[in-house]
Amino acid sequence: MTQEKISIPKDEWKLVQEYYNKHEEQLKLQRIRSPTMLLRQWMLDKYREIEQKTAEKFLSRFEHINVDSNGVKILDRQLKEVVQIRIKQDGIYCEHDETDECEHIKYALELEEVRKIVIQKRKEGWNLPLFIDYP
Ligand SMILES: [Zn+2]
Repeated sequence: MTQEKISIPKDEWKLVQEYYNKHEEQLKLQRIRSPTMLLRQWMLDKYREIEQKTAEKFLSRFEHINVDSNGVKILDRQLKEVVQIRIKQDGIYCEHDETDECEHIKYALELEEVRKIVIQKRKEGWNLPLFIDYP
């Protein structure tokens, strides 16, 4: 494991140490054997919590209405609108955002039915992405 050094203000570090000292027995049962390990655990727990919330928020915002070879219709609860995604030989396109990179496309590409179509059409030479990193 490569290491990265960070620095934190003394009084904040003191809080971690105090917490560790107070809960040492219990923490050792969780294999947390130092204030540093405790801080790392907190950081990772927080990171996972944020990731989870972001994913849930993303998934609850959208619902796919139908999928056919022309594209996908997605209900966007935030916009209160049905968004049409076109799947064509020259690429994938969101009519709402007028782009090939948006949250609707990101969501669409995660749908099993859409993935099947995309994989099939790519074999036929269509210029379609398997996924996009945006946003
Ligand atoms: Zn869009």
